[in-house]
Amino acid sequence: MLWENLTWKVAVAPSRVSDFFRMWGGVLVIAVYDSLNRRMTELVPQRPGHVSIYTCGVTPYDHTHLGHARPAVVWDVIRRHLMRRGYIVSYVQNFTDIDDKLIQRSRETGRSIESLAEEYIAEYHALTLELSVEPPDFAPRVSGNLDAIVDYIRRLIESEYAYSADGSVYFRVSRDPEYGRLSGRNLNDMREGFRIDPDPFKERAEDFALWKKSQVDEPGWESPWGKGRPGWHIECSAMARRYLGARFDLHGGGMDLLFPHHENERAQSRALLGGEPVSIWVHSGLITQGGVKMSKSLKNGVNVGALLERYSPHVVRTYLLSVHYRSPLDYDDARISEWGQGLARIERLWEEVRLAPPTQDLPEEEWAQELALFEERFLSTLDEDFNTARAFAVVFDMVAATYRGIESGRGEAARAWARRNLLVADSILGFLAPVKPATTDGYLADTLVERRNQARQEGNFQWADMLRDVLIQSGYEVLDGPHGTRLFRREDTHAKPTPKKQ
Ligand SMILES: [Zn+2]
Repeated sequence: MLWENLTWKVAVAPSRVSDFFRMWGGVLVIAVYDSLNRRMTELVPQRPGHVSIYTCGVTPYDHTHLGHARPAVVWDVIRRHLMRRGYIVSYVQNFTDIDDKLIQRSRETGRSIESLAEEYIAEYHALTLELSVEPPDFAPRVSGNLDAIVDYIRRLIESEYAYSADGSVYFRVSRDPEYGRLSGRNLNDMREGFRIDPDPFKERAEDFALWKKSQVDEPGWESPWGKGRPGWHIECSAMARRYLGARFDLHGGGMDLLFPHHENERAQSRALLGGEPVSIWVHSGLITQGGVKMSKSLKNGVNVGALLERYSPHVVRTYLLSVHYRSPLDYDDARISEWGQGLARIERLWEEVRLAPPTQDLPEEEWAQELALFEERFLSTLDEDFNTARAFAVVFDMVAATYRGIESGRGEAARAWARRNLLVADSILGFLAPVKPATTDGYLADTLVERRNQARQEGNFQWADMLRDVLIQSGYEVLDGPHGTRLFRREDTHAKPTPKKQ
């Protein structure tokens, strides 16, 4: 009982675990809540300096709703934060383009599975891009990985963790003594439920399908067991293994995937590897509306495309980050509008500081110390289980400190620090309007950048700064990096975080 209370507290309000480790060992610690062991766990990558991530992607049979957008945005922030902390990140998110729901939709609409999947994958890509989500390193589709899936199943049959019967293949759940641990269930308690839908070819009611035989009127793919299609769980295990190797660091998905999907994924992978496939299981909270889970099957999903007609992309993106990723997010029109108004404070400050020239000036006052310590405070907040809600609180504190600095008559220093801090925070949270690379209209701009790079190389910083000001005044955002200057054109929507129309 005591233990349960303790873990609950850690889960809801992580203590300053990473601060403790950092003070103790003097090293960077990123702590992540692990669903399997139900506690905060230090992220120790399998390969030093390299974090590998797999998250379960969408089944492309309908429009993208907010329940899809949330994990996309959350993992985008996790990935950006890990990169900021110096890790190389390999991020895989699949598309489940062979699935019973897709087959069902194809039947209802008379369209092919391929054309439905193509349409909704394209929509998902476009909308997540609009939400400033960087595409994953790999976005494998089941249809392109059937060989790996069949091979995986074949190995499980060889080691007698699986058996074929009447053209289907099933996993022998009783072979895994840990079955149920991830989702916190007991196999004996579960057995009652499994008996409701008896399949005469299964040895035991709890066994689940790795390969499903196709009926005559169903689409199917060739396999050693006849025409059929893979089960959902084996698809993810096989793709994660192919793209990240047998063991990887973080496995993500919504809380609703804990059972049966991730429980079964874990059982399959443990059977194949003889050990844990994943270092930390990470589950994000669900989106609800009036307390009810948002899902397609319940037909209460908020369509992301429609939402972006009413709100700017960065308002929608950051609204999804306004609570900790493990907490449920209850969607509410009034709350997203309110959030947009809060965000406008950050944007007004950005407008005020975006042209501020850098300065080394650091006054002695308290507000200035706050601005100077911002970056480490902000990043260490995210080190603790990627707490974006607290990270936003740190940003709002910084905004307030900047205004105190401006009011105290030290506007130049305050603006310079605020500009730098906002760029740091934006590089992870993405609260400023999305940026688009300058294109062909930028011939003159490109020439100016070239001249500016040259001036910087020659140490002629006065000339370089003048060229930068010309670019900024022409509407470009100028970002200096190790490989020279990059140019972006900020969207015009940038100063309008409130709803576009209502
Ligand atoms: Zn999955």
